[in-house]
Amino acid sequence: MKALAKYGTPSQFGSYKWIEVPEPICGDDDIIIEVKAAAICGADMKHYKVENGSDEFGSVRGHELSGEIVKIGKNVTRWKLGQRVVSDNTAHVCGVCPSCESGDFLTCPEKVNLGLGYGTNGGFTKYCKIPGEILSIHKHTIWEIPENISYEEAAILDPICNAYKAIAQRSKFLPGQNIIVFGTGPLGLFSVQIAKIMGAVNIVMVGLDDDTKVRFGVASDLGATHIVNGSQEDVVARCQEICGKDGISLVVDCAGANIVLKQAIEMCRPNGEIVRIGMGFKPVDFCINDISMKAISIIGHMGYDTTSWRNAINLLKSGKIQVKPMITHRLGLSEWDKGFALMESKEAIKVILTYDCD
Ligand SMILES: [Zn+2]
Ligand SMILES: [Zn+2]
Repeated sequence: MKALAKYGTPSQFGSYKWIEVPEPICGDDDIIIEVKAAAICGADMKHYKVENGSDEFGSVRGHELSGEIVKIGKNVTRWKLGQRVVSDNTAHVCGVCPSCESGDFLTCPEKVNLGLGYGTNGGFTKYCKIPGEILSIHKHTIWEIPENISYEEAAILDPICNAYKAIAQRSKFLPGQNIIVFGTGPLGLFSVQIAKIMGAVNIVMVGLDDDTKVRFGVASDLGATHIVNGSQEDVVARCQEICGKDGISLVVDCAGANIVLKQAIEMCRPNGEIVRIGMGFKPVDFCINDISMKAISIIGHMGYDTTSWRNAINLLKSGKIQVKPMITHRLGLSEWDKGFALMESKEAIKVILTYDCD
């Protein structure tokens, strides 16, 4: 079968290759799913157009995936052939650290992501193995997809769960407060929707010039009450003007650039919160004393847990969360390069890839 793989060591960015790989073998405790939909994520974009020159196979990529169970190990009793499932993309955890003990598997120091880490293959291919080891430690590493949710919608549960946990589980947000969301990608757009569900009054989406093409319009459709274009406007002044001097108690950073953290600290009211989902890779080069002076809580956020998944699936099932406006492109997996280019130019919000090779 064909697959989109990443080459190089875990510390090296880049080197996607379109290759032939053997079909996975189903051990006695494993499950094999036929991938029906796999979405391109921002985490995949970090490696796009980067050549590291390595010939070392890393893994088949694609961690936002859904599919049908087509093979099942003889010891597996909880799952059956033909079930429609979505992976939470955990492939390996230690099972004994404080994170694992509390069910927060994504912060396990030994965590390996399915399709994002090394040693286990993901969904940018035809068949994907869910290892028996993870099924025994983390019972909810896959979820059955409710009947009224399509494979492509289910494949995008990862960023929904992520935004859900960031706001509903990590922050102290209360109905009637305002939210500033930086970043117009799926995490930002789902944050807007969660904020709306939770009763935010002003939901301010902050982006850049590029976002005027598609993303600002979708943000407004999904519930953003105000759009601020950071390429054209004074972001801090504009957000404070919209929400009032005492009105910014929560900033959600789905962008990750240092300037965002700087602006967030500046605009946040005393005792406010900043939840940081996005990631940047440059050292911070500004004074952070205002974090202390204003007693601001900066909350580092990673992923989701079982509660996030259970509740996000319920929200999707009930129609309270919308995914379809964000699926801007559907392509065959062989056209992966085109999908990545559309994501890079921000013409796409979410690209769904489906296997089209035999
Ligand atoms: Zn992702
Ligand atoms: Zn662990």
